Amino acid sequence: MKKIVTLATLSLGMATPAHAGTTALVGATAIDGTGTAIEDSVILVDEGKISCIGTADDCKVPKKADIVQLAGRYVTPGLIDAHVHFAQTGWLDGRPDGLNAPDIYPYPETMAALQADPGRWHRAYLCSGITSVFDVGGADWSVTGEHATDTDRPDRARVRAAGPLITHASEYNANYVADGHPEFAPFLPFDTDDEVRAGIAHLQAIGSNAVKVWFLKPKPERREELENRLLLTGQLAKQAGLPLIVHATGLDEAKAALRAGASILVHSVDDKPVDAEFLDLLKANDTVYTPTIVVGEGWLRAMAAVATGAAYNIDDPGKCVDDAIIERIVTPERLKGQAERLTPDYVVDRALAIGREQAIMAHNLRAIRDAGGRIVTGTDAGNPLALHGASIYWEMEAMQAAGMTPVEVIEAATIAGAKAMGVDGETGSLTAGKSADLLIMPDDPRKDVTAFRLISHVMRKGTLYEQHELQVR
Ligand SMILES: [Zn+2]
Repeated sequence: MKKIVTLATLSLGMATPAHAGTTALVGATAIDGTGTAIEDSVILVDEGKISCIGTADDCKVPKKADIVQLAGRYVTPGLIDAHVHFAQTGWLDGRPDGLNAPDIYPYPETMAALQADPGRWHRAYLCSGITSVFDVGGADWSVTGEHATDTDRPDRARVRAAGPLITHASEYNANYVADGHPEFAPFLPFDTDDEVRAGIAHLQAIGSNAVKVWFLKPKPERREELENRLLLTGQLAKQAGLPLIVHATGLDEAKAALRAGASILVHSVDDKPVDAEFLDLLKANDTVYTPTIVVGEGWLRAMAAVATGAAYNIDDPGKCVDDAIIERIVTPERLKGQAERLTPDYVVDRALAIGREQAIMAHNLRAIRDAGGRIVTGTDAGNPLALHGASIYWEMEAMQAAGMTPVEVIEAATIAGAKAMGVDGETGSLTAGKSADLLIMPDDPRKDVTAFRLISHVMRKGTLYEQHELQVR
C-alpha cells in the first residue's frame, strides 16, 4: 500500500529529507518559465533530482513512494536571484562608500560578522523560495568561503560568485581599507592596463566565476582611456574563460560594456531611454539584462529613515530576514548626524531623481522585452533595504508593474537566471534530470507574481521544507 503523505501530516516542523526512495508530488499544476503548464501533474523525485515530470500516464508512481497530495496547488522551479552580495548586509552598515559611520558600525566588525556567518543569507534565501544566487561582487571571501564553494546541498542555495570588483572608482576604497583591513576591500584597481591584467589573474587564482567591472560614469577627460581599458578587460576575461559582468547604469557606459563583450549588465539603464544601437549591441552579444528596479528606492528609503529617524516598515512576508539586520534597520536614529548631506532637501531631491529613474527603467525594460532581449531577475540584495531573500518579491512585482507578464517574470526569475549563472543544466526548470529545486504555493503565479509571497513549501535538492520551518522568527 502506498504511503500517503498529506500536507497536514507534513506539518510536523521537520523537513522531509531526500532519502533512498521516491517522493511523488501529485496533483499540482506544474508551471515552468516556458509558459507551458501541466495540470494534475506527477513529479517524481529521486536522490535529490527530478526523475520524471508529466501526467499520471507519463510518470508511474512507484508503490513505495512517499506521496505528497497537492491538488489545487501550484508548483514552480525555485527562484533565482542573479544579483546578490553576501558581503553586504541589507543596511547602510555594509556600504561605507555611501554612509561611513566608523564609530557606530565599524566596517571591519560588520565584515567579520558576515564572513563568520554567511549561512544567515542561505537561510534567508531558502526561506524566501530562492534556491540559487549569483553573488556579483564582494571581498575575496565571497568567492573562497566554504559558503560559496560547497553549495550543492539541501541546506544552501546554489552559489556562483564573481569576487572583487574591478573599478576606476578607487577613491571609494578609502572608506573600506583606511582601518587597516585590506582583506575586506571589495575593489581591484582599473587605472592601468597592468592593473587589469593583475586583477583578472587574481580573480582566476581565487576561483571567481566572472570578471565584474564597476563602470561608474567616467569624468569626460578619462572616458576614452577607460572605455579602451574596458575593451581590454573584455578581451582578457574572454582569454581567461570568464564571463564579463558590468555595472553600467548610464546609456553611454552600458554601450561601452556591450562593445567590450559584456555577458551580463547587472543593472538597468536608468538615465535615458535605450536606443536602437543599444538594442542591436545587446542582441548581437546575447547579453543578459538585469533590471534591479527597486534597489535605488531601497537606498532612498534607508537615507530617508536616517534623515527623519522614522524606521522603514520591513516587507518580509515569509519572516525570513535576519534578526541582527532588522535590529539595525529599525534603529535608523543611530546614524543621525553621520552624514551631513542627509537633510530633508537631499531626500526630496533623491526621491525626485529615483522617480524619474524608475520611469526610465520601466520604459527600457519593456523596450528590451519587446526586442526579444534576455531579462533576468536580480535584486542587488545586500544593499540598503534590498533585503536578502525578501526583496525578490518586491523586484518581481516591480517587473510585473513595469509591463512584463507574470509568466515572463517567472521565466526571468527561474530558467533565464539559471542560464545567466551557467547552471541551467542543473536547475531553473521542472525537468527530469535536474536538481529538485521547486516551490509549492496555493495561488496561481501566472495570474500575479504576488503568489510567491505565500509559498507553502520549498524543496531544495529533494528535501521538502514547510516554509514555516525555514522562518527565522
Ligand atoms: Zn550589486
